[in-house]
Amino acid sequence: TRLPGDPETGRHVRAVEGALWSPVAPEPVAAPRMLAWSADMAGRLGLDPAWMSSAAAAEVLAGNRLLEGMAPFASNYGGHQFGHWAGQLGDGRAIGLGEVLDPGGHRWELQLKGAGSTPYSRSADGRAVLRSSLREFLCSEAMHHLGVPTTRALSLVGTGEPVVRDMFYDGHPAPEPGAVVCRVAPSFIRFGHFELPASRGDVDLLRTLVDFCIARDFPHLHGTGEALLGDWFGEVCERTAVMVAHWMRVGFVHGVMNTDNMSILGLTIDYGPYGWIDDFDPDWTPNTTDRQHRRYRFGQQPQVAYWNLSRLAGALSPLFGGHEALQAGLRRFVEAYGAADRGNTAAKLGLSACRDEDVDLMQALRDLLKAGEVDMTLFFRQLADIDPDAPSLDGFDDAFYDASRRASVEGALGEWLRTYAARVAGDPLPAEHRKALMDAANPQYVLRNYLAQEAIDLAHGGDMSRTEALLALLSHPYDAQPGREGFARRRPDWARDRAGCSMLSCSS
Ligand code: AMP
Ligand code: MG
Ligand code: MG
Repeated sequence: TRLPGDPETGRHVRAVEGALWSPVAPEPVAAPRMLAWSADMAGRLGLDPAWMSSAAAAEVLAGNRLLEGMAPFASNYGGHQFGHWAGQLGDGRAIGLGEVLDPGGHRWELQLKGAGSTPYSRSADGRAVLRSSLREFLCSEAMHHLGVPTTRALSLVGTGEPVVRDMFYDGHPAPEPGAVVCRVAPSFIRFGHFELPASRGDVDLLRTLVDFCIARDFPHLHGTGEALLGDWFGEVCERTAVMVAHWMRVGFVHGVMNTDNMSILGLTIDYGPYGWIDDFDPDWTPNTTDRQHRRYRFGQQPQVAYWNLSRLAGALSPLFGGHEALQAGLRRFVEAYGAADRGNTAAKLGLSACRDEDVDLMQALRDLLKAGEVDMTLFFRQLADIDPDAPSLDGFDDAFYDASRRASVEGALGEWLRTYAARVAGDPLPAEHRKALMDAANPQYVLRNYLAQEAIDLAHGGDMSRTEALLALLSHPYDAQPGREGFARRRPDWARDRAGCSMLSCSS
């Protein structure tokens, strides 16, 4: 159904019913140029490094040329955005190229983001700016190397074409360089893919999608009928819990946890206005659109994930005779999140196991980190190096942003350290194991918002060296990497309120 269009752009909204996808061709761009690519991802796919550096690769990964066997498409999905049902959304600027098998026989879908408009673009242009594409490229790979389930990024290709977005100069929108990211994942199916047919009462299509998803993406699940569906939903809940627990461990804030941005595989997907926690603040969100209600703030991500799973359960309910199996799945989220959170507490604090009183110990620390405006990453990393016989705040100087905030918690934090040291002394874990456990849970290097922004500023001047340096650095986020400590520094003062370094808008 063709709905009334946007008079300015002439673009139309199309409601696609009774189908899950539409064939669509990427729109060629003026001057594709490979700006960066992930050697790790390319290696995984068995792609030749020489090909990745070739002009042919830039053409294919910009969408200018299709390789044999590619059958480009865009899928439709719906979603709850900021708590409200938003109707049909879909791949508005993502175009699937098809599936490939890597040399190990694993299946991957390739998807170009920013490769032109689709039947689901609504009034937008199907394009992406370099700044947001570079952020997605770097963060996908950084998250993977942190051990967080995520979609991957193979390449970042400049289009040689300007894109107009929300950056203004003298009151006028200023054109920015455009780019295309090639995303890679076993599946890009989202909660919203199930919500859309369910919202239209199209139970047959819903069932077709569920059967396809289970057969392709959850082949290890056996059984039949409702038992199979219940196991599947329970696994989705569990994977989502594990993913969010990782976010909380490393200080990642997704920023737009709408149900259309939730992967059915429990992968972090849609890197938009995401951000990283510098000073520990559970109320922080990087998303300017959400600055008032802060629905997607750091500390609320587990609750939002649960709410999103409840929407998915609602969409799936026509396939179930009653609510028991779906409720059991949601309980699996609560159990899996609780277990993962306790595992994080034990690992981040270097304890052989998380006892009930350790949960309180961690909560007391969180309160102090917030009150004292303490850097999350630097604090936890440094915690592994305290002397349990003489715990002190020496060595933590770099983790504080503000002298008076530091002074306000210094006494209590010193007290906390003594309690912690006593707990550590009574724990059976040998000291060297403790440090190894902590260093594997507390990264030294994360993609701080200002680091990404510096790489973007340089990329705008044609210099990709910082992007490459960050990609290499963030491939080993738990290693000390002598000589690169500068990239572990707390957010500099200049970056505190600068656009791009603190808050970002939704779709760019
Ligand atoms: P997001 O806020 O990134 O999750 O996007 C929400 C919806 O808007 C999705 O359906 C996107 O595909 C679509 N969208 C975002 N940016 C664009 C764009 N530049 N062109 C077309 N569709 C877009
Ligand atoms: Mg999205
Ligand atoms: Mg997005």
